[in-house]
Amino acid sequence: MSDNLYELLSGRFPADPQAPCFILRDGTSIGYGALADGAARAAALMARRGVKPGDRVVLKAEKSPQSVMAYLATLMAGAVFVPLNTAYTAAETEYFLADAEPALVLTDPVVFLAEAAGVGPLAAPVPRAADDLASIIYTSGTTGRSKGAMLSHGNLAANALALHAAWGFSSDDVLLHALPIFHVHGLFVAMHCAFLSGAPMVWLDKFEDAAVIEALPRATVMMGVPTFYTRLLANPAFTRETASHMRLFISGSAPLLESTFAEFEARTGHRILERYGMSEAVIITTNPLEGERVPGSVGFPLPGVELRVAGGETGVIQIRGPSVFSGYWRMPEKTAEEFTKDGFFITGDVGRRDPDGRVWISGRAKDLVISGGFNVYPKEVEMVLDELPGIVESAVIGAPHPDFGEGVVAVVIGQGEEGAVIASAREKLAAFKAPKRVFFVDELPRNTMGKVQKNLLRERYADAFS
Ligand code: AMP
Repeated sequence: MSDNLYELLSGRFPADPQAPCFILRDGTSIGYGALADGAARAAALMARRGVKPGDRVVLKAEKSPQSVMAYLATLMAGAVFVPLNTAYTAAETEYFLADAEPALVLTDPVVFLAEAAGVGPLAAPVPRAADDLASIIYTSGTTGRSKGAMLSHGNLAANALALHAAWGFSSDDVLLHALPIFHVHGLFVAMHCAFLSGAPMVWLDKFEDAAVIEALPRATVMMGVPTFYTRLLANPAFTRETASHMRLFISGSAPLLESTFAEFEARTGHRILERYGMSEAVIITTNPLEGERVPGSVGFPLPGVELRVAGGETGVIQIRGPSVFSGYWRMPEKTAEEFTKDGFFITGDVGRRDPDGRVWISGRAKDLVISGGFNVYPKEVEMVLDELPGIVESAVIGAPHPDFGEGVVAVVIGQGEEGAVIASAREKLAAFKAPKRVFFVDELPRNTMGKVQKNLLRERYADAFS
């Protein structure tokens, strides 16, 4: 056996080829046998089209079982899987294609798989070493050029096995899969846990609260971004009853508000398990399955992950471990800048650790506001604002200020009056931390993974003090 990730995954597929892998909305299912067969034929077709081990295969397509077959086929062929967000414009896509130089670009995996059905299956996965590349994931790139995080077969295998154990997955589980599959969350975190258990997935093309509520009674585990949970809570049809069959709700990719955690527990009795990860390392920390899931904390590093906070009590988080990527595709200088001499990756997330090792994230280093020479951690201000009556959620940014360099600006969802919010914040926060301007909005800009796009807010409110 080689270290090809596909060998590990397919080795756990159920013996019965009819055992369901994808349970579709119309009630039909696609079995694990069909998944493996589709992947093996697509791998053979890729080879026939000239894809060689190490070549990149780009997939830019809607979520479908055939997209998953194309992913597994790429692993089998020993090639490197490069998923692209379907929302990318033509100009953006061109950049990625020029950067990745793929041997094959798939935009219609359904057609590709139909063609592959006429091709004999690849007999066995191409042998790979643990440090051979399996995938390149382009980071969302809110500043500067988007970078391709290089993940190896060994990186992905180590993380999948650690998560499978940490979250207690078994063949009795049914995973509700409503995430996109161009991002590590839906592609690796969710699917690998199901594959390693040979467990079925209730397969939804996208998150839609009514469809999820309908599907929940058939599932045991759901993985989501925080907005999935707030949208479920906003639907009165989401009840304790709907969630009663569930074993576990997991959240990540963006911070879960403590109020969402509390409301979810009050409604369903379930304490959402929050974990923290990124494209460059897949999952880094998780709250425990057994033991205390503390709202606002992202839990403990996974076994094998070393995590430290640079410089003082609160600082930039650095990590080292088996799932940490080897660098950015064709960016050796950028890669060198983001690793320490002793091999830790500088995540760019600011956080702290309790004496017992529990980790708390307070935001991205680049979102830090420096006002009058003082550091303001947006999360600290957001937590105070979120507690005020009438405020549902807030995002704190810095805007250019004639006296202070940057001034603290709060963009909030809710009802209220600017002066009153500022006055209430001043009761709890030092003057330099309290917002100097407050803007009320109906919605915060978010990307598909539910992350608030602070770069857009900074642009939008750049004139707040002029
Ligand atoms: P991406 O590479 O697109 O998955 O983005 C990774 C970033 O998402 C991390 O560096 C964090 O800033 C953020 N993130 C992921 N999970 C969490 C979490 N549970 N709490 C706070 N931030 C998170």
